[in-house]
Amino acid sequence: AQKYVLTKYFQGEPKESDFKIVEEELPELKNGEILTQAEYLSVDPYMRAYMIGYKLPTDMIGGQVAKVIDSRNDKYPVGSYVTDSYGWRTHTICDPNKPRLPGVMPLTRVPDISPHPISLALGVLGMPGNTAYFGLNEICQPKAGETVVITGAAGAVGSHVGQIAKILGCRVVGFAGSDEKCDYLIKELGFDHAINYKTANIQAALKAAAPNRVDCYFDNVGGEISHTIMSYMNKYGRVAVCGSISSYNDLKLPKVTIMQPAIVFKELKVEGFLVNRWTHRWDEGIDMNLKWIQEGKLKYKEEVYHGFENMVKALNGILRGENTGKAVVKVN
Ligand code: NDP
Repeated sequence: AQKYVLTKYFQGEPKESDFKIVEEELPELKNGEILTQAEYLSVDPYMRAYMIGYKLPTDMIGGQVAKVIDSRNDKYPVGSYVTDSYGWRTHTICDPNKPRLPGVMPLTRVPDISPHPISLALGVLGMPGNTAYFGLNEICQPKAGETVVITGAAGAVGSHVGQIAKILGCRVVGFAGSDEKCDYLIKELGFDHAINYKTANIQAALKAAAPNRVDCYFDNVGGEISHTIMSYMNKYGRVAVCGSISSYNDLKLPKVTIMQPAIVFKELKVEGFLVNRWTHRWDEGIDMNLKWIQEGKLKYKEEVYHGFENMVKALNGILRGENTGKAVVKVN
C-alpha cells in the first residue's frame, strides 16, 4: 500500500515537496473487515483549506471510490465498490460496521449505476452532489420565479446547484472563470446567464443578467464578488455560504470587505453550512440526484486526471480552475 503523508503546511499553492509518499505493510484481515483498492480519488477545495488544522505529519484526507479485493464481511463481497473517506492511499483495511461518530459521513456501498461511471459517487452522486442538494434546498429555499446566483458555477457543486434551481423554476445566473465554462453553463446546462468574472464588469453584468435583483445567492468563493452580489439582493434574500475558494491559496491577508450594511438593510439571511449536517438524510440526496440524472434533468461533467503520482497536480488543477464539473483522479 502507498499513501500520501503531509509533512509541511501549504504556503500558497500546494507543492509536491509538502508531501511524502510512504509505503505501508497492511496486516491480515480480521472478521468483519474488508480490504479495498482505490479506483478513483477525489480532489476537493476543502483539502487546501482544512489541512492547516492538522498536526503534522498527517495522512492526507479525502474521499475515494474503492473496489473490495478481499473481504471477511458478507455485506461487502469481493468485487463490490464502496465510497469512503480513506484519504490519499491505494489500499485500505476497514470494518464497515464500526459505528461512526455523529457527523462523520458513512461508508457507502456504490450501487450499479451503469452506464454512468462509478466515479460519480465522488461527485454528483456523492458529497458535492449532496452539498448542492441540501445547501440550495435547505438554506436558500428557492421558489419558482426567483433569481438564484451562483459563484464557482462551473465546478462540481456550482454546476449542480444551478441545475436544481432550474428544475425548481428559478432564473439562474452563474459566475465562472472562462468563456468556455460560461458557454457550457448556458448551452449544456440551461443556465439563463453566465458571467466570466475574470473579464466582466461584475456589477454591470449582474444588473443586466438579473433585472429583478437576486433572491438567493449560493456562495462558493467569498471575497469581493460576494460583496457585490449581496449588495444587489432583494429584501429577505437568502445566502448559502458554502465555501470561500478565492482565499484558500492567498498568502496575503484578504482585503476587508464590509458586508454588514447589505445584510442589515436587505434583511438577508446568511447561513454557513457543512454538508455533514445532513448525514442522517444522505441517501435522500443521492436518490434524488440519481433520479434527476436518469430523467435527463441533471447533467454532469468530470475532469479525470490519471495516476496516483498526480494527486498534487490534480489538487492544484481545481485551485487554478482547470476543471469543469467534478475533478477526480483515476488511480491506475
Ligand atoms: P470546484 O469543482 O468548483 O473547483 C473549484 C473551482 O473554483 C475552480 O474550478 C475555479 O473555477 C474556482 N476558483 C478557483 N479559484 C478561484 C477564485 N480565486 N475565485 C473564484 N473562483 C475560483 O470545487 P467544488 O465544487 O468541489 O467546491 C466549490 C466550493 O464549495 C468550494 O469553496 C468548497 O470549499 C465548497 N464546498 C463546501 C462544502 C460544505 O460542506 N460547505 C462541501 C463541498 C464543497 P473558475 O474557473 O470559475 O475560477
